[in-house]
Amino acid sequence: MKIIRSINNLKQIIKIFRDKNYIISLIPTMGNIHDGHLNLVKKAKLMNTTCIVSIFINPTQFDQLYDFNNYPRSIKLDCKKLMVYNVDIVFIPSVLTMYPSGINNYTCMYVPVLSEILEGSKRLNHYKGVTTIISKLFNLIKPNLAFFGEKDFQQLVIIKRMVHDMHYNIKIISVPTVREINGLAYSSRNTLLSKDEYKIAHKFYLTLKSMADKLQNNIHYVTDLIKITTHQLEKIGFLVDSLYVLDSKNLTCITNNSKNIIILSTVWLGKTRLIDNIKVEIFK
Ligand code: AMP
Repeated sequence: MKIIRSINNLKQIIKIFRDKNYIISLIPTMGNIHDGHLNLVKKAKLMNTTCIVSIFINPTQFDQLYDFNNYPRSIKLDCKKLMVYNVDIVFIPSVLTMYPSGINNYTCMYVPVLSEILEGSKRLNHYKGVTTIISKLFNLIKPNLAFFGEKDFQQLVIIKRMVHDMHYNIKIISVPTVREINGLAYSSRNTLLSKDEYKIAHKFYLTLKSMADKLQNNIHYVTDLIKITTHQLEKIGFLVDSLYVLDSKNLTCITNNSKNIIILSTVWLGKTRLIDNIKVEIFK
């Protein structure tokens, strides 16, 4: 496994792979690698591709400096974990490498509307930062495939739109959320939870799951169900930041004809913000 920090070295090694006609996969991450990330790697390796994992804590997608500074960092351990999975290249650039003119007034990639709703309405420049860094990685690496988790569902929808609109010749592979046995979605931020917070964190998913089961039986009951679920979550100790039921294709409002629905939610547990979602298929 090669660990690469500069664009020149990255381009050189990618040329070698490309000359051999290898299929190149990219898995963008912010590090603190866990089983969710590793499942993306597994999928890429199963498809017999040359696997590049990027680790870059992207400053432009954080709205609070505190959150950026506090983001868990564990590069050495990350590389050890990735090596076990036979990752070919780990790309770990610096901020200056990725933003050669700095991060103020940076040249950006922006997907309108989808970036402004839901999470985007609370974290103003978050998705602008995400699409900008992903497009930089796409431009540098030109992967054939790029893997993203369904855990960050809005991000996935936005990236797919960017790829479509900007004519990137890259296939986006979405991978279902990987969970601990108790249901808690793996997340780099889970390490920020205290012991007591961690003990109740899985109830976030369990409560959404019970909402999903009820929704499947009666789609007309959505508004009440959102109120009831919010109350249940707050009783457990979460502060509900958002809870939406939307059409999963374009994140639009559901109609009586909606078949593919998604419950999207973010909650605070102490100082940690947890994000999760569940897809609900309506059988009529
Ligand atoms: P992050 O390091 O949080 O930016 O995540 C990097 C990639 O891993 C994104 O595409 C995430 O959606 C994906 N990911 C993070 N957690 C999970 C999980 N529990 N299951 C599946 N994919 C995940």
